[in-house]
Amino acid sequence: RLSRQPESGRPELAVSFEFFPPKTDVMEERFWASLSRLAPLGPRFVSVTYGAGGSTRERTLRMVSRITNETGVPAAAHLTCVGATRDEVDDVVRGYAEAGVKRIVALRGDPPEGVGHAFTPHPDGYNSAADLVAGIRKLGDFDISVAAYPEKHPQSVDWDADIDNLKRKFDAGADRAITQMFFENGDYWRFVERARKAGISAPIVPGIQPIHSFRQIAGFAGRCGASIPQWLADRFDGLDDDPETHALVAAAVAAEQVTELLDSGITEFHFYTLNRSNLVLALARLLGIRP
Ligand code: FAD
Repeated sequence: RLSRQPESGRPELAVSFEFFPPKTDVMEERFWASLSRLAPLGPRFVSVTYGAGGSTRERTLRMVSRITNETGVPAAAHLTCVGATRDEVDDVVRGYAEAGVKRIVALRGDPPEGVGHAFTPHPDGYNSAADLVAGIRKLGDFDISVAAYPEKHPQSVDWDADIDNLKRKFDAGADRAITQMFFENGDYWRFVERARKAGISAPIVPGIQPIHSFRQIAGFAGRCGASIPQWLADRFDGLDDDPETHALVAAAVAAEQVTELLDSGITEFHFYTLNRSNLVLALARLLGIRP
């Protein structure tokens, strides 16, 4: 078991941390406090999401510029193409480049009604993430990440369509995929096997969602098509009013997930931080990553 080997004998690991752009001064304080605790771990990058329908366009740009220019940590800016013309999206890409941001997480985004509803591209817009990746490639030399779905994207008609779509994103020039949250490692492994069979050799980095609040994460999961296994729901059952036990169970669940992935050969992890650092710091330590 790699996770129990002395740290000196373990493979070199890479981590990245995802944040969202804060809305208020108090949230912004938490953002910077968490970032300053996680930055010393030497992440490959920290990424900042792009609010639904581009609603955080200015805030995302402001946060990635400040990260790039004030902390020295490589920043990745998320970008979606929903509800915008190609020219508008291209302007955002140019803004990222001017701010010194060299990494983009390129996404299609969801219609305002939510992920379950059909996506209609803007008549003058990019019509999918693959199309967006091709557009970004024309604008500059960016490191591009795209999304992957271990349980299949809710709009993919079948597995072949889902994997074909991922392949199109790599063919258009993506460098890596980051997965949607998942709680059964078997789903991740089956997905990677399907992708490799289809000739995709690029990294498919597992996206790990620590469960700061089971109620909140179950809600997110439901909205993005990730399932909550019954065993997981059982573990958190009745803990809504017991934050201490909830936090201990959350740490144990996430520790189990990442150490199992580490022991099966994973060397790169993406953490959905929700702008919090505690659980992620503990998980990094278990992986042998320290300041
Ligand atoms: P795509 O890869 O374009 O595909 C989505 C679906 O459309 C797939 O089912 C595919 O099979 C189908 N499809 C694609 N092209 C075609 C075609 N030509 N014809 C028919 N079907 C097609 N959302 C945000 O709003 N902001 C964020 O910052 C954000 N960050 C994310 C980060 C990660 C790591 C992940 C996993 C998701 C993120 N999302 C974000 C959510 C994402 O926008 C949604 O999951 C969205 O529904 C799909 O985006 P995509 O880039 O995967 O789309």
